[in-house]
Amino acid sequence: MRVGFGYDVHRLVEDRKLVLGGVEIPFEKGLLGHSDADVLLHAISDAVLGAIAEGDIGKLFPDTDQKWKGANSIDLFRYVIDLAKQKGFEVNNIDSTIVCQRPKLASHIPKMVENIAAAAQIPAVRVNVKATTTEGLGFTGTGEGIAAYGVVTVRER
Ligand code: MG
Repeated sequence: MRVGFGYDVHRLVEDRKLVLGGVEIPFEKGLLGHSDADVLLHAISDAVLGAIAEGDIGKLFPDTDQKWKGANSIDLFRYVIDLAKQKGFEVNNIDSTIVCQRPKLASHIPKMVENIAAAAQIPAVRVNVKATTTEGLGFTGTGEGIAAYGVVTVRER
């Protein structure tokens, strides 16, 4: 069994869709990035890459590469899962936390779990997504950005 950890932040701006865990969430702002800027999937993808010692998504999907421009992060995550499989690993479980003052995310979490579990090819009972505010403190509290943390365990097949 191996453990991986991931962390990511994206800036909240106008005229962008807000996509978290592969779910498009109605909100007046969205996350800025080269891809769809799905901060949750980026943190979880980095956690998988951490567990299998394959660097990070910045190395795998450089923002200088037009191939990944506007990419769906769920596709990037699937690519990372395939890489883990190629290296002889399968995901055991995934835990994560989104740090976000607004909008409220609770009603969207079941769909995020479903998307992540499907892409990781594991049952939904092995995936957890949490959301917290920072009580108005810091860049997440003021709504300048959204952060996410992910922890993943993998096992050798
Ligand atoms: Mg990112």
